[in-house]
Amino acid sequence: MGWTVFAIVLIAIGIVALGSALRSLFLVSEAVDRLERENESLVRDELQHQREAIDSLADGLDVAIFMCDRKANILYANRQAIQMFAFPDPIGRTILAVTLSYDLEQFVLDVGRTGESQATEMIFAYPGDRIGRIHGWPEPSGQRVFLTIYEITDLRRLERVRQDFVANVSHELRTPLATIRAMSETLLDDDTDDQDLKSRYLEKVISEVDRLSLLTNDLLVLTTAELNPVRKQRCNLADVLRSVVAQLEPKAREKSLALNYEGPIELMADANAGQMTQVFLNLIDNALNYTAEGKVEVQLKATKHSAEISIRDTGIGMASEHINRIFERFYRIDRGRSRATGGTGLGLSIVKHIVEAHGGTVQVESTLNQGSTFTVTLPLS
Ligand code: ADP
Repeated sequence: MGWTVFAIVLIAIGIVALGSALRSLFLVSEAVDRLERENESLVRDELQHQREAIDSLADGLDVAIFMCDRKANILYANRQAIQMFAFPDPIGRTILAVTLSYDLEQFVLDVGRTGESQATEMIFAYPGDRIGRIHGWPEPSGQRVFLTIYEITDLRRLERVRQDFVANVSHELRTPLATIRAMSETLLDDDTDDQDLKSRYLEKVISEVDRLSLLTNDLLVLTTAELNPVRKQRCNLADVLRSVVAQLEPKAREKSLALNYEGPIELMADANAGQMTQVFLNLIDNALNYTAEGKVEVQLKATKHSAEISIRDTGIGMASEHINRIFERFYRIDRGRSRATGGTGLGLSIVKHIVEAHGGTVQVESTLNQGSTFTVTLPLS
């Protein structure tokens, strides 16, 4: 009996110990599970964190980035890529569907096929004409192709403007120089005593030299304005306008044109008085040049935040297709007429450049054979 009780007690103790051991084991395994779960979520969080950092880095770049598979399906696109092709949800589409560029699709397929990095320039037509510098390279595994597109439309446009400008200047210089050379040669060779002829030729030489001086002067004004920041000082725009009008009055009288100024005695603005003189001189001189009869009215008024200067003439006006182009360098509607008035074709580009550098605008309204109004608006600080 005694042994039986002892055995039962022992068994009971064993069961309790086993239960507690099992319970400990269970707690340990639960703790391990929990730790694993926590680790997984930590790794997931870390990965997510890194992904977000890479996304925001790529989205901050001003270069379009695509990642494609070897069949040119898009797997990733950064913000610039989405904006550049105005395609909000490009993932899963082909590069052709998103960019509408067959050349770009062929480029991606080629990089995928050859496994070699390539670079080129391409013109894109959608959603507007743009030029891009493209670089494509394969992932080391060869499964994916990375693509960057850097937009260089403005760069190329500026290069073209510069080349056109140089070509235009050369052209403008060539004509008077050729005339001067031809006249001088004739004077040298000619043994005639015809003084009249000689004077006519010499006058022509002088007028061509004057033309060259005007051209170089305008070129200098334009490049100086472009290269240097505006130096503004407090100046009275009414004074500037009145003195330009006074300077051009003899020319108006010679052409029997009325030239009137209307405006306040004083309107102070922060501007470069020398450059403003140039602007008004160019505009009022043009108004006189392109008006055969009638009048030229110059008006100055102040609105709440700006000064508004308008120059209205009753001259030849211009057809609407020219209005957007007359501010381009060397653009002239009638080359012969501009030449006759001593124009260089640079006057309005100088006006536009100076006014915009002052934070202002210049606009034109015109009707063919009825007249034009140029309006300059300058901010009043
Ligand atoms: P230009 O030296 O030939 O006058 P501008 O740059 O001053 O060059 O002007 C460009 C062209 O715009 C002129 O050739 C002329 O055809 C046109 N234009 C300018 N001002 C007037 C105006 N007030 N009336 C009619 N046409 C004008």
